[in-house]
Formats: sequence, structure tokens, C-alpha cells
Amino acid sequence: MLGNMMDNPLLISGLIEHAASSNPNSEIVSRRCESDGVSDIHRYTMKDAAKRSKQIANALIGLGAKPADRIATLAWNNYRHFELYFGVSGIGSVLHTINPRLFPEQLVYIINHAEDRWIFVDLTFVPLLEAIQDQITGVEGFIIMADKANMPETRLNNVICYEDLISSASDELEWPQFDENSAASLCYTSGTTGNPKGVLYSHRSTLLHAMSEISREALGISGLSCVLPVVPMFHVNAWGVPYAGAMTGSKLVFPGPGMDGASLWQLIEAEQPDLLLGVPTVWLMLLNHMDEIGKTLDSVKNVVVGGSAAPLSMIKKFDEVHDAFLIHAWGMTEMSPLGTANVKTAAMDSMTTEQRHQLQQKQGRPVFGVEMKIVDDNGDSQPHDGSTYGRLLVRGPWIIKQYYKSDDMSSFENGWLDTGDVATIDENNYLGIVDRSKDVIKSGGEWISSIDLENAAIGHADIIEACVIGVAHEKWDERPLLLVIRKPESTLSGEEIKQFLSDKIAKWWMPDEVIFVESLPHTATGKLLKINLRKEYQDYLLNR
Ligand code: ADP
Repeated sequence: MLGNMMDNPLLISGLIEHAASSNPNSEIVSRRCESDGVSDIHRYTMKDAAKRSKQIANALIGLGAKPADRIATLAWNNYRHFELYFGVSGIGSVLHTINPRLFPEQLVYIINHAEDRWIFVDLTFVPLLEAIQDQITGVEGFIIMADKANMPETRLNNVICYEDLISSASDELEWPQFDENSAASLCYTSGTTGNPKGVLYSHRSTLLHAMSEISREALGISGLSCVLPVVPMFHVNAWGVPYAGAMTGSKLVFPGPGMDGASLWQLIEAEQPDLLLGVPTVWLMLLNHMDEIGKTLDSVKNVVVGGSAAPLSMIKKFDEVHDAFLIHAWGMTEMSPLGTANVKTAAMDSMTTEQRHQLQQKQGRPVFGVEMKIVDDNGDSQPHDGSTYGRLLVRGPWIIKQYYKSDDMSSFENGWLDTGDVATIDENNYLGIVDRSKDVIKSGGEWISSIDLENAAIGHADIIEACVIGVAHEKWDERPLLLVIRKPESTLSGEEIKQFLSDKIAKWWMPDEVIFVESLPHTATGKLLKINLRKEYQDYLLNR
């Protein structure tokens, strides 16, 4: 017997309509990339955003955009990008948020693979498109996200000025109603090997994810929040924050191109956000800047850290210096992205500070809607004892079941997604990410976590960045090598680093060698790119 309830579709347009009627005056503040790019702060309200979303939707219909057409963006976190989130998906077209940090050949690949019809582009990224224009001939035109006064000289063909397009369009629109399972947005993984893979989110998955995400058991976003998403809108929809903001009417602060410590602090001081979201590298820059100027982040209550593991030193610094709680979260592009969050609990109140900091290094418990398990190579479930390792599998209503236009099902097992991560789960269902399965170091039949080693090393004040890779070893199969960037003036030696690590890691985890490097390679989402390093250093220990 079926229930008797209405089944109105969960649509992204419903979010912006709700925002306009229930929280019309909630503020959206953006740093723009026009003029000097630093002091150019734009502010308006949810009501304005809703009106302009309808204008951009009408303008797109005027340009011939149809449901399911892919419309791309190459843009920072700002109010125009926010409007496009609703205007494009609202008419049933698919918003393809392109990561500008991809290599040019990857940009060409994904634009052609997605068959993007139009690309909306911030001024910063116009040269990127000019360079590849000849290879993306399926694109009908480019809409530059600026007003007339700031339109650049460009070699791009079929160029339209965003503000002209908006001002020529009506703000009257009944959002179309359609199946909630329709595609809403498209995001490509950064693809450390092979071509990037497309993840096609639906309206339903996006709304369910946002509903779970705003809960206090996840990110805790409400109408009282002032949220600063430093995580880019081209990286898994800024972890869903634009949708969560429209759902709750929280104030949103968009940093635009200013993601360095000084620019972030300027915005934080002016707008007083209480919730920040981003990857560890961004927070390292901000924390270093705060040390330099000797100030504290007084408005900030919570900092969500995901994308890579949060080191203990960062958890402590936010807590002890800035009185801010680091919510360690884990997820993937394939999961919209939120999987787990490590939020403050009553149990933490009875822990010592040290115990709490230890627990905060774990990635947290699954948010409602996400199921997870760890399995061995035979696919058998492993115990939740906090120490047994296994491949991490997940399932849930905002988790991918197939890549876009791909018949490669190698990541899927009986309705579960293999995350490619190796993890532990403890008695209280806390997830501990040990490593990416391709990065874990297999030494004498036992596993060493490159993440744990890196995070232990980064706790040294003279170390800017650390990267651990497994390389061939005659006796143990693989052993860890530690590559380190030290501060310019530092004379820190490999032996001193080993000494520093000696009481922080198991003895047999000690890296065989420490190598000082000038720079380390990263993926388009800012993660260490280990594949080439592994090739380069493969025989390093054999040739000693
Ligand atoms: P990419 O596009 O680089 O693949 P994703 O955000 O999809 O970006 O990457 C997901 C992966 O990032 C996860 O499978 C995991 O390995 C890693 N990751 C994400 N959050 C964390 C975290 N809190 N701790 C450790 N690893 C993390």
C-alpha cells in the first residue's frame, strides 16, 4: 500500500523561490574580480539574487537553451555564479562548473565531452578560453561575467556581456516543473590518471544533500549563520553551500579570487562569518597570516575542513589560538560531496582536550542518508573496531551510480561505490581515512598511512609541506620516503626531522629517507599528486 502524500518534485528552483519569500533580505557579499579585484566588494540580497536568476533563465531561453543542455561556468565564488546555480538548473538545463585549474588539454576534453553550448566566464579566465577556442568548436558563444564598462578586449567569438544579457531580460518567470531525477549539474573529478570523469547530479540528490548538510549533526547552517565558503563553486558545488544558503537564508560571503591569507582576513574582519569551509592548504595560509599579524578570528565558531586530512597541528591551532572548532569532514565529488562530519558531541565534553583533539583527527560519522562499510579484498565486511583496515564502500541518495557517458562500472559493487579510500571505522561509527588505496605504503605485508606520516611531519614549525610516497625496497617490498619543503631560512636536517617524528609514529613507520625539495606537484583540486613522484623515486632506495 502506498502512502497518501503529495509527491511534488524536489527542484533547485524551489530553493531560490523559498529564499526570496522567506528570507528576502539575507545578504550575499562577494569580492569581484573587476577593477583592482581587492576592494571591489559587491553586496545584495536573496531577493535580488532570485530576481536576477529569473532574468538569466529568461535570457538563456532566449538564446535557445533547452532542458538537458549543458551550460558551463568558468568562475570564482561570486554572486553571478550563485545566480547561475539557480537560473541554469531552474529551467532544466545542466550547470557544468568547470575547474579552471585543470590543464588546458583537460579543459578541452571536458568541454567537448560535456558538449557545452555556452560558457559563462569570469574576466580572470578569458585568456584560458582564448587559448583553446579552436579546439572547442561545439561551444556556441561566451558570456563574460562583467558589466559593459569592464568588458575586455578579446579574441573569443560570439561574446555577450553578462549585465547586458540580464538587463535585457524579463524577471517574470514561472519556473518549469519536471521530474526531480532530472540532471541539474555536472562536475568532473580532477582525474589523477586518465581523463577526468563526469559526475551528474540530479535535482533530487542536490536537495536531499542540502537538507542533510544543514543539520547540526553535519555543517549546522541556519538563518543565524554567516558562511564563508572558500571551497570553490567549481569544486563539487562549493560542497553544496549555495543551495544550503538558499534553503536557510544564511548570510553568504563569497571570496572571489582572494583566497590568500590577507584577502581572507580582510573579508572575515569586515563580514564576521561564523562558519568557514575549505581545504587544509587554504587554512594553513590563513593561520600563517594570523600569526604574522598577531590577531585572532573572533567571529569564527566552526571551520569545516575536508578534501584532505586535517593535521593535528591545525586542529589545535584553531582551538587554542582562535577558539574555533574544526569540523573535520570527508567526502568526494562522487558523493555531492558530504559523507561524514566530525561535529562537537556531548561525549566530547567529558574528554580531556588531548583526547578530543585525537578524536577530531578522524573524519567523523556518516551524515543521515549515507551508509558506509569497510571490506577486505574478498568483499567481506570488516569489524568496526577502529583498527582493522578495509576498502571503504558507500551508498546513499546523493552518491553516484554511474559516471556520465561512461560504461566503466569498475568502481561499483552491488549497489555500493568503492571510494578508492582505505579506512577504519570504530565502535562509535567514526571513520578514519588511512589513505587513498593507491597511496598506502605496503611494507612487509603491513600498511603504512602516508597521510598520518605527512600530518605528523607538518606539525614541525619549519616544514611548509610534506609528502610521503612508497618506493621499492629489496626486503620490505615498499618503504616510505618523505619529501619536504622547509621554510626558506631553515637549516632543518633529515635527522632532526626523524628525531621530531620519533615519538609521534610507530617505529617501523619511520621514513627511510628525508629528501628536501623546492616544490611539490598538486592536482587541480589542490591535492598532492603522487603518481609522477612515485615514478621518479621508484628505485631511489634500491640504488643507494
Ligand atoms: P578530486 O576531484 O581531487 O578527486 P574529491 O574531493 O572528489 O576531489 O576527492 C575525494 C577524495 O579526497 C576522497 O576519496 C579522499 O581520499 C580525499 N579526502 C576528502 N576528504 C578527506 C579528509 N577529510 N581526510 C582525508 N582524505 C580526504
